[in-house]
Amino acid sequence: MFLTQTLPPTRFDLHFSVFGIPVRVHPLFWLIALLLGSSSDLLFIPIWIFVVFISILVHELGHALAFRRYGVDSHIVLHMMGGLTIPEAAPWGTGFASVSPGPKQNIVISLAGPFTGFFFAALVIAAVVVSGGAVQTTWLFGFIPLPLSPILPFGGRILGIFIATLLWVNVFWGLINLLPVYPMDGGQVARNVLIQYDPFDGVRKSIWLSVITGAILALVGFFIFRSTYMAILFGLLAFQSYQSLQGRY
Ligand SMILES: [Zn+2]
Repeated sequence: MFLTQTLPPTRFDLHFSVFGIPVRVHPLFWLIALLLGSSSDLLFIPIWIFVVFISILVHELGHALAFRRYGVDSHIVLHMMGGLTIPEAAPWGTGFASVSPGPKQNIVISLAGPFTGFFFAALVIAAVVVSGGAVQTTWLFGFIPLPLSPILPFGGRILGIFIATLLWVNVFWGLINLLPVYPMDGGQVARNVLIQYDPFDGVRKSIWLSVITGAILALVGFFIFRSTYMAILFGLLAFQSYQSLQGRY
């Protein structure tokens, strides 16, 4: 929720609505989806773009429906950094949540994104199982279930790659998103949890948590997962949090 200034409309914007929630797709969204999916297997690229589109849309719809539950209309923008659900007229600020109704509702709204993704993944797994297939699962760090390639009695290779990618994005990205790093949903949850215990200093503590968690993840990404991408991403997020701490206090 950090990119709150809406991007100016372009001629190439795609507009539609789901469950009465307006959705706008900025043309650069497709470019980023393409770059993230660069692969030697050409067949994989269109599948990947479609999976990223569906998954981010499902995630944002979770936020939008949670907003609606609290009587707040919102719209969704898919842009070059991912997705964003923007409340039409936020009855409470998104920054320093002023005490009234805020924190608990904000926690539900933030969690609704990743958990809608988990629910979506569960539906896909259920559909595979009901139709006579199976989904292999691996355990990340020994306790986090991560669905892998499905075994399908039908459909062949393309459907197999599609389902495997869909499950991976919805579960793995959902879990990453829950980590207490700004501007991810976990960072918003951490802030709203901490300000309930410490209304005066909770925000600052949540930013420090973001700096430390981001830095640890950058190191873990570099040395354990050997992922330069993960190291750069979390390094930047940690640095961004650190800067907002400097500017603020
Ligand atoms: Zn989200």
